[in-house]
Parts: sequence; C-alpha cells; structure tokens
Amino acid sequence: MKILITGGAGFIGSALIRYIIKNTEATVLNIDALTYAGNLDSLKEIDSSDRYSFQKINICEMNLLKQAIFSFEPDIIIHLAAESHVDRSIDGPGQFIQTNIVGTYNVLQISKEYWLQLTDSKQKKFRFHHVSTDEVYGDLENSGLLFTENTPYAPSSPYSASKASSDHLVRAWGRTYKLPVIVTNCSNNYGSFQFPEKLIPHVILNAISEKPLPIYGDGCQIRDWLHVDDHAEALYLVATQGRAGETYNIGGHNEKKNIEVVHFICSELEKIAPQFKINIKNFTDLITFVKDRPGHDVRYAIDASKIDKELGWRPKETFETGMAKTVHWYLDSSWWYQKILDGTYRMERIGGSK
Ligand code: NAD
Repeated sequence: MKILITGGAGFIGSALIRYIIKNTEATVLNIDALTYAGNLDSLKEIDSSDRYSFQKINICEMNLLKQAIFSFEPDIIIHLAAESHVDRSIDGPGQFIQTNIVGTYNVLQISKEYWLQLTDSKQKKFRFHHVSTDEVYGDLENSGLLFTENTPYAPSSPYSASKASSDHLVRAWGRTYKLPVIVTNCSNNYGSFQFPEKLIPHVILNAISEKPLPIYGDGCQIRDWLHVDDHAEALYLVATQGRAGETYNIGGHNEKKNIEVVHFICSELEKIAPQFKINIKNFTDLITFVKDRPGHDVRYAIDASKIDKELGWRPKETFETGMAKTVHWYLDSSWWYQKILDGTYRMERIGGSK
C-alpha cells in the first residue's frame, strides 16, 4: 500500500510516519514545505528505510504537488500540512488562510483529478483523510457537554476558523465529486518531537533553565490531552479501515486544566531532575500568570465513542504514563531541541495549550 502524507515533518505527521514504517508494510511519501515547524530530525529513526521518501513541496504550489501525487500513485492521502499554532494565527492570520484553506483546496483538487483517472476498484479503495482539530467546535465553557461528530462548528480563533473552512471544503469535495473523504477531529496532542512553542515542551524546557512558566489567565482552561503515538495509531486505523464520508472524533479521555498540566510536569521534574534547581526551591516557584489570550476558549472535551465502537480504538497511554514518558524524552533529547532553541522563535510569546 502507498500512503502520501502532507506535513510529515511536523509533530503529528512525523509520529504517524514513524508508526507506519515501524508497524506496517506500507510505503510512505512525505510532502512538507519545512516551515519553522517542520524538522527532518524527527524522522531520523526511519529515514533510511527504502519504504520512506521525502519531497520538499509547499502545498500552495499546484504544479509540484500534482507531479508528486501523479508519479507516486498513492492508495491513501493523509493531509496534515497546516499552520498549527493559535498564537501565531492571532498575530498573523494570512499564512493560516493560505496554507490551511487555499493549500487544502489545492491538495483536494489535485487528489480529485488523480482519483478520477483511477480504475473503478482503485477508486473504491482510495481515501482522502483530512486531519483536523476539536477546536473547530468552539468553546464548551463549563457546560459538562462533550463534542460529538454532530456538534455544530463555532470556531473562535483564526487558526480554528481556517481549519473549520478546510473541513467544510473536504466534505464538499466528498459530497459533490464523490471523492472518498474522511475527516478526523482530535484533541490536544502531546509527546516527543513537539515544537517547543507549545505548552508542554515549553514548560519542561523553561523549568530546567529556571525560566518563568507562563500561564494564560488563571490557567483554568480545560483541554483533553492525547499522546501523539495514540493519535498516530488512530489515524492509520481510520485511513485504512474507516468508512468514506464519515467523521471520527479522536480524544484521550483526559480532561485537564492547563494549571494541572503544569503542576504535573513540575512534580515529575521534582522526582527525576531536581539537579536543575539552583536558584529556586520548587519548580512551581517559576509559575507566572500572564494576560489571557484574546478569544481564549475555556473548555474542549471530546466524545470519542464512535471510533471505539466502529474501529475498536482506545488510547493506550494514560495522562500520567504519557506525560512521564514525554518529560523523560525532553530531558534526554537536547540533540533534537537545542538547534531549535538556538534559532529565532520568540520565547516570550509562548504559553498557550495549542
Ligand atoms: P506542526 O505545526 O507541528 O506541523 C505542521 C507541518 O506542516 C510542518 O512540518 C510544516 O513544515 C508543514 N507545513 C506547513 N505549511 C505547509 C505548506 N504550505 N506546505 C507543506 N507543508 C507545510 O503541526 P502538528 O501539531 O503536527 O499538526 C498537524 C495537523 O494536525 C494539523 O493539520 C493540525 O491542525 C492538526 N491537529 C493538531 C493537533 C495538536 O494538538 N497539535 C490536534 C488536532 C489536530
């Protein structure tokens, strides 16, 4: 089986490619523009496999994309390439509109052209799997409700609005052109190889340098957390066994307040890395509350029962096991993150859960 993955040098895309190469016989072509968030070091474990190849392509460039799709002849396309950080979308929404909306249109349109010239049996088996977020559903506040696959869309940020737009395009290409599409909407991911601007790596790396741990507002925003390797397994399962035309919500059954996440990381570091404390008594002394993000949603929570019932998927990691592994990984992986920290991104803007 041939699987073409867009955005495979990012956090989730690289986890998905590592999962496929290590656990299946499939051949993967990774298409990625290598923006600030793309990092081929995340694929070192598998990049010598003869079932893996990479092409540096921006999904906004129609011609290169078309060449890559038509010459690779994929059975499945899994589309993850996107701008993904909410804070950056507030500072500069233009790139989010280009990549997440126009780029998704390009990938869809070329996939449709490619799919139309396949034989009947190949057309039936083909899947276009679009990877999206629970943020498209908007804010649950403190309602106690969960997002289901039928929850109406109500995105709050430029990021989530651009992802919602791309979800709508994908479903329209499914309904109008009969392209066999699937959409997954997933909660917050965490794990190894996550770019250090996101909450969990940012807190770990700041804590071991005794830098402030910035928390937006009162830190009571609730997110559902899923280990990225569980997400990768779910994505492969949905892409290969999910029903065309369907949406599957993917979640970790781990609702936590941001402040609880930060306290958990601090307590893990107290156990395994107390040597990093030189000027402070406890890692929690570094917690600093900062002005809340504009439009910040209070709570996201996923009902992931459909993927469990239909495909038998449930996450393997609990929040505690997955977080402990993640903290350990960052402590052992300066080879991966130091080059990024030595670069240009702005530490002071960082602290959101996505
Ligand atoms: P990421 O920012 O780590 O990676 C995005 C990748 O896409 C990078 O490798 C980047 O180089 C590439 N890319 C960006 N613009 C591109 C373009 N124009 N052409 C080609 N490649 C381009 O993001 P992530 O966290 O791995 O998220 C992957 C996907 O999953 C996104 O679509 C995101 O919306 C979705 N998602 C993320 C989360 C999460 O918690 N991180 C949760 C649910 C869904």
